[in-house]
Parts: sequence; C-alpha cells; structure tokens
Amino acid sequence: MAIRNIREIGDPVLTKQCKEIKEMTDRTRELIQDMFETMYEAEGVGLAAPQVGILKRLCVIDTGDDPIVLINPRVVETSGEQTGQEGCLSVPGKSGVVTRPNYAKVVALNENMEPVEVEGTELLARALLHELDHLDGHMYTELVEGPLYDVTKDEEDDPEDE
Ligand code: ZN
Repeated sequence: MAIRNIREIGDPVLTKQCKEIKEMTDRTRELIQDMFETMYEAEGVGLAAPQVGILKRLCVIDTGDDPIVLINPRVVETSGEQTGQEGCLSVPGKSGVVTRPNYAKVVALNENMEPVEVEGTELLARALLHELDHLDGHMYTELVEGPLYDVTKDEEDDPEDE
C-alpha cells in the first residue's frame, strides 16, 4: 500500500470524464487500498480515483460507519435538500456552502464486482454526490454559494473534507 499524491484544483485530470471499470485486476485492487490509505491520511471522508490521477469510475467513502467502495456508481434516487459546508481534498484549506439533496441512493459494484446499493442522508448523501461528481470531472467549487472560506487547522481536522 502507498499514499498517493492528491491532485489539486487546476490540474486538468480533475475536469475529465472517467472510464468504466470492466473487470477487477490486481492493479485496481491495489489502487483501492491506496485510495483508502491516502484518504485516511488526509483525514477526508471520500476520495475519487481522478483525485489521485486515475481516470476510472471508482471512489471510496468512509463517513465513520463502514468503508465503502463504489465502482461505476450511478445515482438512482435523490430527495430533500441540505445546505452546509463542504470541502474537498483537492481544494486544500478551503470550504464553501453547497446545497445538495439530503438523501441519495446509488447503485454500483463493490471491490468484488458485485452489485451493491448504498443509500444515505446528510453527510453520507453529500459525500456520495460529491464523489460521483468527480467521476464526471465536476468539483464542488462549481456549486458553491458565495465565497470559498479559508479553514483553520482545527476545521481541517473536522472529517468533512471529501
Ligand atoms: Zn472532492
């Protein structure tokens, strides 16, 4: 396992459309492990493959319950609305206010390429929608209402950075 370099806003890799994963390989398995390690080290709750420079439809999320691996994920349902602070490991030291659905249901494949359904509200819904946006080359900064704020070191430790 290895910590990978997190790409930052301005890097063109973050604006690209990612490709579907057709089969699980040792290389992709290693990528998933590295992404978890990189996300935990950076104290984030989610990380998408393009954030480590890999244009594959893959993201990992851990909002404190269980680690989630999503391969070729697709949003199938959303409802409600939440407005709150959001951050991104690719936009270090910043956060901004983003309104998103309060509930999201995603279908995807897990690391064994088995179909899974993941649904969540509040932080998990926000993380799901934030990470899936990365796979289509979108960042939360496109949705932010008002300015991006500088976050203090204390707030950086708050596990809301995705
Ligand atoms: Zn992000």
